[in-house]
Amino acid sequence: MRADEMVNRYFAEAAETIDLGDEFHEVLQTSYRETDVQVPVHLDNGGLAVYRGYRVQHNGARGPYKGGIRYHPAVDINEVRALASLMTWKTALLDLPFGGAKGGVNVDPGDLSERELEALTRRFTASISHVLGPYRDVPAPDMNTNPQVMAWLMDAYSAKEGYTPAIVTGKPIAFGGAPGRREATGRGVMYCLERALERQGRTLDGVRIAIQGFGNVGTWAARTAVEMGATVIAVSDIGGGVRRDDGLDVDACCAVVAAGRSVADAVDELDADPLAGGDVLTIDCDVLIPAALGEVITAENAEDVRAEWIVEGANNPTTPDADMLLHARGVQIIPDILANGGGVTGSYFEWTQNIQQFRWDEEEFNKRLRKRMRTGVDTTLDAAERWGVRPRRAAFAVAMERVAEAAHMRGYV
Ligand code: NAD
Repeated sequence: MRADEMVNRYFAEAAETIDLGDEFHEVLQTSYRETDVQVPVHLDNGGLAVYRGYRVQHNGARGPYKGGIRYHPAVDINEVRALASLMTWKTALLDLPFGGAKGGVNVDPGDLSERELEALTRRFTASISHVLGPYRDVPAPDMNTNPQVMAWLMDAYSAKEGYTPAIVTGKPIAFGGAPGRREATGRGVMYCLERALERQGRTLDGVRIAIQGFGNVGTWAARTAVEMGATVIAVSDIGGGVRRDDGLDVDACCAVVAAGRSVADAVDELDADPLAGGDVLTIDCDVLIPAALGEVITAENAEDVRAEWIVEGANNPTTPDADMLLHARGVQIIPDILANGGGVTGSYFEWTQNIQQFRWDEEEFNKRLRKRMRTGVDTTLDAAERWGVRPRRAAFAVAMERVAEAAHMRGYV
């Protein structure tokens, strides 16, 4: 299912929950501004490549637009539009003073040299800088972009406007990045789970966790899980997976991927059993954390999922049909717009610190992150109980209610 179809479906059901007036539909469902630019890049071989770049600003009723910039050959305006609206709902649900945006360039960065990538980033930034600003639109990293790309973006913007670290988040710690930001999405996943279990009078002690995807989100969720007393019994990456029923050595697994290898190639040194990549989704565990790709839990495999909880580290890992099937079976899902919101919450912390020219230590950062994620869980699960709907529908409904109220107060609707 295309990202825009999926968002429309969740929008429609949440609109029904809050009885959203017709006049709000068009304002909340369409973008405020869509910038579509040509991005020519002079190549090292003397040739010229011309890409398309987009920045979609969906809704800014609650604050400056916020959202990542991705570099991927499949980037197109429909996808960017849908992802921008998801950012509006994510920032509103977590009560961050931001709106929603997304950007991208239809480039495969693997085809470009470092110099070409820098030229592309500077050209794209120059082309969209009139719609950016620390109080207007604040980009962040997304698929195939990283702190280095954010550094070039910040430098290109600052060359024109003066030193402006708050123009972008996810920067290197060397200049304006926030200690804790890199780890925030994975940690946030676990803070959500901790609070959701606590509401049932339970702790993470001995809870058996399986994680699909062992990159930024997966590794930091795993490390935090162990710190909190849980047992990580299976992890997988693109090369396959490993399982160990009495608990994997998570630090050793992280060391394997940090060395550029797959956990599946280190079965013996991890003293674990091999696991096919997709099997991690249906393994016998208490909590499943999909932290790799979208649409991996589908109507085909939803019946085989044995976890009691699914905490969505990845974006859109569960298809809408699977979501309904799992809910009917009593599987409890902490939806992506809440569960992986630690990343944008961390970006908010970075932005506030940049504006104040100040830096918190990582302990302070994590303490505040945990508090905000816990509040997000309470808000969502309280609303789900109040409305008698599943948490995903409640999460969208709470977010839409907040955005609709701000849009109304500001006179948009
Ligand atoms: P990443 O590139 O660091 O890691 C991705 C991991 O998924 C890698 O371990 C890769 O090997 C694995 N993977 C890829 N294909 C797989 C497959 N077929 N089976 C099993 N594993 C596979 O990415 P990330 O930053 O950890 O992001 C993971 C997900 O979380 C994405 O959906 C992303 O959109 C979402 N997300 C990330 C952040 C963030 O701050 N990094 C924030 C919000 C959402």
